Amino acid sequence: MIVMKFGGTSVGDATAIRRTAETVRGRLSRGPVVIVSALSGTTNALLAAAEQAAAGNLVAAISTVEQLRERHLTAVAELVGTGPDAHDLAATESVHLDELAQLVEALSVLGHVTPRSIDAMASIGEQLSAPMVTAALQRAGIDAVFVDARKVLITDAQFGRAEPQPERIAAAAREHILPLVLAGKVPVLGGYIGGTNEGVTTTLGRGGSDYSASLFGAALDAEAIEIWTDVDGMLTADPRVVQGARLIEHIRFDEAAELSSFGAKVLHPNTITPAVSRGIPVFIFNSMRPNGTGTRITADAPRHAVRAIAGKGNTVIVKVRSARMLGTPGALKQIFEVFARHRTSVDVVTTSEVSVSLTVDDDQYLDAVIADLRAFGDVSVDRGRGIIAVVGAALGEHTEAMAKAVGAIGSVRLHMLSLDSTGINLTMVLDADAVQPVMQRLHDAFFGAAA
Ligand code: ASP
Ligand code: MG
Repeated sequence: MIVMKFGGTSVGDATAIRRTAETVRGRLSRGPVVIVSALSGTTNALLAAAEQAAAGNLVAAISTVEQLRERHLTAVAELVGTGPDAHDLAATESVHLDELAQLVEALSVLGHVTPRSIDAMASIGEQLSAPMVTAALQRAGIDAVFVDARKVLITDAQFGRAEPQPERIAAAAREHILPLVLAGKVPVLGGYIGGTNEGVTTTLGRGGSDYSASLFGAALDAEAIEIWTDVDGMLTADPRVVQGARLIEHIRFDEAAELSSFGAKVLHPNTITPAVSRGIPVFIFNSMRPNGTGTRITADAPRHAVRAIAGKGNTVIVKVRSARMLGTPGALKQIFEVFARHRTSVDVVTTSEVSVSLTVDDDQYLDAVIADLRAFGDVSVDRGRGIIAVVGAALGEHTEAMAKAVGAIGSVRLHMLSLDSTGINLTMVLDADAVQPVMQRLHDAFFGAAA
């Protein structure tokens, strides 16, 4: 059995959904369980409608709902036509869309939203997409069955970011999904959404469909989990930045995790932890290229000195200097508490006896952070910096690679340099405008110059 997850662009319209059906057909012998996102952009629209309604802008909210109705019913008509047997799907979709309109009205009367009502709204995207994909698969001659994810993906009641309950999910998956697969059917479920034990609708947080796929895969002890998306897989560098970037066919989970905070996110590694920790490989494939190689992520891929080069700009360095304070126990803790208090996450940290440098990507609360840090010593702020990470599981022990990486910096000014505790991530902080050329030099050094 395999789990195949299709993201929003893979089910964005009738054409994409038909392509997805063909991709599933190609895997029928492997016992696919299909997980789908909402049609691309739908979740954003639903959340916008909730906000509009709560802010008293009912007209805008209803018009958002009507646009969603139009888009979904158009796709339904294209997929299954308007004949009598198309009636069931159109009716199912209309029920959800009507419920959505009612929710919007209720929120506008209340004048505010709760996390629970936001989840009720946000979940509708997947409640709409999964029956549609089921019908499209049936049209393609596949014995597909819609299964309501809310009765399988059992969570607690932390609306907006509900915590899955793996044992309950495993039991429910054995009850509701496994028998279908054993009978040669293809279950189709919405990602991202779940339900409490009491049957109240929850969501796993934005982008949660990958997490759903991983949870279902773990619950069913799947052979593999396939994430079908709109890129070929993970690359040795961002091809918009570096020439000659190439596909990584096999990457270790810990390497993928190190790369996750950089640039275009293919998927968030946290979301595939349930699968990877059970030894289930996770693949990334491009829906537009069903025969592509894709990227395989496993816990134990071969260890390379360098697997990928990642970079980003817009980094701010905050430096705190205090001879008096930094030698004393607990000084770093106090500094980090300031960042925590102002909900600012710290990225790279380097220290000496008398100073600490920290980088942040998000400077929204920086003024407040700086004001509080002044209690500890001199504070200075460098804007216009960028970060490059050289990532490879065996980098730390590979002295030549390390020398090559540092050598590639050349005469560019280096502001911070750090190697993490396992030697997998060498991070350098440079001027933002040096990021691109240094990334290219690093990439050329480790992966050969572009032809
Ligand atoms: N539809 C949800 C979102 O946009 C979940 C997902 O696509 O993974 O956040
Ligand atoms: Mg997504």
